[in-house]
Amino acid sequence: MKKIYYGKQTIDDDDIKSVSEVLKSDFLTQGPLVEKFENKLKTLFGAKYCNALCNGTAALHLAGIALNWQRDDIILTSPITFLASANAILYSGAKPDFVDIDLKTYTIDPNLLENKIKQYQLKNKKIKAVIGVDYAGLPCDWDSLRFLANKYDFQLVNDNCHAMGASYNGDKYYAVNYADVVTQSYHPVKQITTGEGGSVLTNSAQIDSRIRNLKTHGMTKDPEKLDKIDGPWYYEMHNLGYNYRITDFQCALGFSQLKKLNSFVKKRNKIAQIYNDAFKDISNITTPFISANVYHAFHLYCLKINFKKIKLNKINFHKRMSEQGIVLQVHYIPVHLQPFYKKNFGFKVGDFPNSELFYDMEFSLPIYPLLSKGDQDYIIEKIKLNLE
Ligand SMILES: *Cc1c(COP(=O)(O)O)cnc(C)c1O
Repeated sequence: MKKIYYGKQTIDDDDIKSVSEVLKSDFLTQGPLVEKFENKLKTLFGAKYCNALCNGTAALHLAGIALNWQRDDIILTSPITFLASANAILYSGAKPDFVDIDLKTYTIDPNLLENKIKQYQLKNKKIKAVIGVDYAGLPCDWDSLRFLANKYDFQLVNDNCHAMGASYNGDKYYAVNYADVVTQSYHPVKQITTGEGGSVLTNSAQIDSRIRNLKTHGMTKDPEKLDKIDGPWYYEMHNLGYNYRITDFQCALGFSQLKKLNSFVKKRNKIAQIYNDAFKDISNITTPFISANVYHAFHLYCLKINFKKIKLNKINFHKRMSEQGIVLQVHYIPVHLQPFYKKNFGFKVGDFPNSELFYDMEFSLPIYPLLSKGDQDYIIEKIKLNLE
């Protein structure tokens, strides 16, 4: 039987041609395509600076170093995110903590964030940064997050991996305009792909130059930064960096894909609209909330199902759908309930009830530009059938 998964890349002949051209050229990596891709990203997302990297996790890692996260700094994010958002806090030795989601938007709740900040203040502690995740492609309440960041003086990161192509208050550059640093991922399930890939976007020259240095071993040839100059071959290392570079053929794919970003996101919205219409009068399910001031990028289409009210429980619903060729995913297992986080930081069941409740109810339905109308009708039919 054919299997339908929640996400899939869209690759056309132009993409293949772009990659092939680089494969026949002089440089497979560290060539001209990286800068070309970065420049296109800067234009599309309204950033002064951009560093393309080997993946979105590396982007979060270097963002943390560039923001000077240190041991025992307190950094907050939402439990409803991919592991990488929280793990990036740990790479810097900082202390992760979470703020529960808003039950309507599924993104970080600014009121609960302020409560958390005040709790820390009672212990004479200050938070260093918040990583907002534009979950599923719906921008967070960035007006409130920016207000709180100014009021309590903390850094703002937008883990924008779900929301490329979204807009907020009519602003498609919102990610860079509200946050100090923005990270993206180009994994094949995301809006555009480079295979593996990611980037850091920012308007800060200082953050950009740190990341540019750290992504290639901390090496520099900049005469202004060298202690001495032995000759044209000479380089120095002043910081411990990594090899987080992306290749030229990946950037060729990325550049070609970016031309289609808007049409991809439009198609995702079209698919979401069909799901919304199909499910609007059905009891025991909740379709995604869309705030009036946003354009949703629909990386995920999240359905909340009230399993207490239907015959099947979550496992059996999933099993029944799988038997019919539809492999549903769940986004996400709340990060604070991962054994590593429980063991090392003492998180436990009940700490973030909204996220836990959401996890009990959520399934992500297939959504990607190449999903056919026939397949979508089939998915809708099977969901309705199994909801009885
Ligand atoms: C995909 C994703 C990442 C990580 O990106 P990779 O490119 O897979 O390393 C980080 N955060 C979120 C929210 C993601 O969805």
